[in-house]
Amino acid sequence: MRAINMLKANMMQSGAISEPNRHGPVWVKIETEWAYWIDVDSLNFKRVKKHAPVGAIIVVKSRESIDDERTYVRSSFGIVDETGIVELTKKQTCTILARQVLEYMQGTNHWPPFTSRKRVLESRDVEVWYEPTEYDSFALIMTRELIGDDPEMFLARLGKDDTRQHPSWRVETARSGKTKCYSCKDVILKSRFRIGEPIFSEGSIFCRWHHPRCVAKRIDADDVENLDGYKNLNASERLRLKRLLRQ
Ligand SMILES: [Zn+2]
Repeated sequence: MRAINMLKANMMQSGAISEPNRHGPVWVKIETEWAYWIDVDSLNFKRVKKHAPVGAIIVVKSRESIDDERTYVRSSFGIVDETGIVELTKKQTCTILARQVLEYMQGTNHWPPFTSRKRVLESRDVEVWYEPTEYDSFALIMTRELIGDDPEMFLARLGKDDTRQHPSWRVETARSGKTKCYSCKDVILKSRFRIGEPIFSEGSIFCRWHHPRCVAKRIDADDVENLDGYKNLNASERLRLKRLLRQ
């Protein structure tokens, strides 16, 4: 809520909205066929189903054909106001998102889902990435001006993202022999391990499955205990898994 009010205050200064709304976010009709809005409370990417709340960042997708065979998906950006969508550049979008992400951080004392610290800039500002889907990423600059504190210190004090959306790799034994390994395309045999790589799509997460040997390079064998599902394995399975990932 605070994020939206703040945004509205900013927008009013710029003349985008003439009257403040004191009754929570207003939902307006969005005419676009294929768009997502970013929920400030969860930072989830949500598919627009005819309406979106005022103050939300919106990402509009369109398909463009490059030639007869290939198409590519273009994104354009905007913010919802009471008349519909006000178009923004990617940079303006990132500036507003930085504020929304900061509000989430200040409100929860945690990293929001889909965010990670990328680097400290020469100015001592910190670049944080927000990657809500496989195809959408936003570089957010956390400045001293915005935070009112040393950005590095502020970010270092935050807890890890403890929401369910936190992308975590998982392990389980295959219940059927029907899954194919995404890496090598071979079947993952029944009751063998399968390793799930979290993939974001349309605001939800699903797994891409692999053989342990096919992702051994991407998983730190000493970090196996942090895989989702590891706790469900028995002692000999745990040993076997570690051995497979060390190969
Ligand atoms: Zn494989």
